[in-house]
Amino acid sequence: MSHSLSPRLHNAAFAALGLDYVYVPLPVRGEDVGAAVLGLAALGFRGANVTIPHKAAVIPFLDEISEDARLADAVNTITVEGGHLHGYNTDVEGVRGALVAAAGDTFAGEPALVFGAGGAARAAALALARLGCPLTIVNRTPAAAERLAALVTAGVPGARCGWLALSDLTAGDVRRQTVVVNATSLGMAGEGKVPALLADNVTAGQVVFDAVYASVLTDFLVTAQAAGAIVVDGLTMLLGQAAEAFSLWTGVPAPLEVMRDAVRR
Ligand code: NAP
Repeated sequence: MSHSLSPRLHNAAFAALGLDYVYVPLPVRGEDVGAAVLGLAALGFRGANVTIPHKAAVIPFLDEISEDARLADAVNTITVEGGHLHGYNTDVEGVRGALVAAAGDTFAGEPALVFGAGGAARAAALALARLGCPLTIVNRTPAAAERLAALVTAGVPGARCGWLALSDLTAGDVRRQTVVVNATSLGMAGEGKVPALLADNVTAGQVVFDAVYASVLTDFLVTAQAAGAIVVDGLTMLLGQAAEAFSLWTGVPAPLEVMRDAVRR
């Protein structure tokens, strides 16, 4: 879904600001990643987005990558400056921006639980650690949770990050959090549901973020909203990462409302 949304929202933003850029989707095969990245400079591109499954594969072909990209081992945005290729991970800023827009800069010291240990969870965990939240990573596969917790603890100065297997999660673990994040694919069309143990123990006043993007609130966020939580949807994260990429390419702030309208259309 993000694949089809990105051209729409960036092209609407370029048009609204009268910028002479165009965003085109270009499928690239795995074996062609290096040639495609190096070709960006030769062809006069200003930059690119990188989607799954190429986010890590592009890294060896870039001149430099940001700290977030290094920690996440994933680049989703490339800029080209005089032939120099720089990689960024704007998903981290996308999560941070979405959380702060919903609840203010009030996160330092507040406990947060991230369900999932894949790419979206890495972005969410890094963003929350940067905001100063003590973290617990919960995942079906415990080894992946342990790896992500170690990555956050080692990578973000002052971070506190533990982990739990999903099978060991209790209702109390969920209730005592200030922030609860679903960063799994559960809740996407065609996937299973977020476990009731998580959804049914969300409480009033918690900030609940679902990385899954959908045109309407996911079931998890509907349940959270009914419980009185402040809800943050995956579309807001998608817009946040796009806005950050837009600024990196153009040097001007993204027209967020134009982007939001383009997605709604
Ligand atoms: P990923 O790297 O493949 O990770 C998937 C995660 O979901 C893993 O932690 C996996 O656990 C867990 N999972 C999958 N099926 C499960 C199940 N049946 N029960 C329990 N856990 C399950 O995927 P991703 O890239 O992180 O994407 C996750 C979601 O975030 C997707 O819906 C994606 O579209 C969304 N996303 C949104 C944005 C945005 O801008 N809003 C950006 C990126 C991704 P195991 O380790 O146990 O397999």
